[in-house]
Amino acid sequence: MDSRQKVVVVGAGPVGSLAALYAASRGDDVEIYELRGDLRDPSTTPLNFTRSINLALSERGINAMRHAGQPKLIEHVMAATIPMRGRMIHGIRPNGDLYEAPQDYDVHGRTIFAIDRGGLNKRLLDILEEMPNVKFFFNHKLTGADFQRNKAWFVVAEKEALAAGKQPREIEIDFDLMIGADGAHSSVRYHMMKYTRMDYQQEYIDTLWCEFQIQPKKDSGSKSSKFKISPNHLHIWPGRDFMFIAIPSEDGSFTCTLFAPAAVFGQLEADREGVKLAPFFDQHFPGVTSLIPPPELIASFHQNPHLPLINVKCKPHHCSSSVVIVGDAAHAMVPFYGQGMNAGLEDVRILFGILDKHAAVDSSMATEAGVPIAATRAAQRELALAEYTAVRVPDAHAINDLALQNYIEMRASVLSPVYRLRKFLEESLSVYVPRLGWQTKYSRVSFGNERYSEVVAKSEHQGRVLVRGLIGAVGLPLISGGLFLYFRYRRAVEVSLRELLRGLAGFLNSR
Ligand code: FAD
Repeated sequence: MDSRQKVVVVGAGPVGSLAALYAASRGDDVEIYELRGDLRDPSTTPLNFTRSINLALSERGINAMRHAGQPKLIEHVMAATIPMRGRMIHGIRPNGDLYEAPQDYDVHGRTIFAIDRGGLNKRLLDILEEMPNVKFFFNHKLTGADFQRNKAWFVVAEKEALAAGKQPREIEIDFDLMIGADGAHSSVRYHMMKYTRMDYQQEYIDTLWCEFQIQPKKDSGSKSSKFKISPNHLHIWPGRDFMFIAIPSEDGSFTCTLFAPAAVFGQLEADREGVKLAPFFDQHFPGVTSLIPPPELIASFHQNPHLPLINVKCKPHHCSSSVVIVGDAAHAMVPFYGQGMNAGLEDVRILFGILDKHAAVDSSMATEAGVPIAATRAAQRELALAEYTAVRVPDAHAINDLALQNYIEMRASVLSPVYRLRKFLEESLSVYVPRLGWQTKYSRVSFGNERYSEVVAKSEHQGRVLVRGLIGAVGLPLISGGLFLYFRYRRAVEVSLRELLRGLAGFLNSR
């Protein structure tokens, strides 16, 4: 019984590449269509980024790669990462001294990992290239899809043809299953909307971002570190309304990002000479100008793109048995929880887990009854994709919301005593009373694989218990003190209370 399906993946970013790997490892015929050229070709311009961008890879992304059926993958990927044990908060004291305050992510010492996005993507493409059942189609842009007849159309941008002034050609393909991993502005999602009643919500937050670099130390001998600041932290200069962060790279540099409201970018853009930029950094991000010399700061600000941040929620994530969207195509989120790619990779693990479960149902009875295998497979896929939407949509919405909330935490709450008290209490309970199963929300999101919606529910529960506990801790002594005084000096207290009430009544009657 041949159960091979033709799986078409649109988008060869990290999520599409991992989806292709999962499908190919199961023996499906896989075709990957990508708008841009091959990322491994030096002449291909990287998407959105001027150089490579470093991302925070954490447990969910790692776990998804662990289950891809390629033992070498995770070994190679992790070899090119830098562990980050916590945040390093940078600030200035009232006396003008600069300070660095580390805040570990996890009381048990677990870390997240800095990884080069392009490097990870290339590794996935290299493995796919070795698989006989995988075909690549670079410079192919999805322009149309019919999810009733399972057909799709791509415009092919061949360099030679375009150079010769010829019109780009269009091709038609068919498929059993299309996986849309074509990013925040997904064409697959756009065409899916015509075939299913999709709820769709998109929001641009009032923040732009721009990339900078801290170069490695020039004179680092073999023994001294090539990093100008700690390589094992994600550095944050919190600025209330703005934020500047730095993530380490293997070569000793840091990829930095400025996040600020569009109006602030507007004011700085208007200053073409850049005279205001260094003072702006000195005021809001003390110490940065000693890591990035002002001429480099000004050049990066004016040369690198100033990009928006989008938040996309939609439901369902599939249509019939024909198509499913994953990664940013299904849930683009702001980057403040470091989960966009991790959640996308996790989508793939969950999707294929559900597809496998439905494919394992014995289809021999249906085939004996004369139902063709393709129809049986389609029926199984339809059930699986419906289950995927039911499971994944609440989790995608939950992490989108958490990511938005974390912007406030990263720029401001990291400095707040209430935030630090809660972190301290939750971590202490996790260490000293492990049977309670308490963890900070950050630990649950970044070091575990619990559903995001469960993380939110458990964190809210912990918050309520903590508030009750604190009220108890403060309120109980007050109430017991009051009761003690009452019983000890009952007569005097009653006389005073009566006097107080009489006075109050007189005051109210006189008005
Ligand atoms: P993409 O990476 O967008 O890939 C989509 C692919 O589809 C592209 O290659 C594109 O060319 C192709 N494509 C698009 N349209 C078509 C078409 N019509 N036809 C064919 N192909 C098409 N995530 C983390 O987990 N950790 C972090 O620390 C983190 N930091 C971030 C920092 C910033 C500043 C930003 C902006 C994002 C960050 N993210 C982070 C999010 C992460 O970058 C994305 O979630 C991730 O890249 C999504 O991967 P993807 O494969 O779904 O989509």
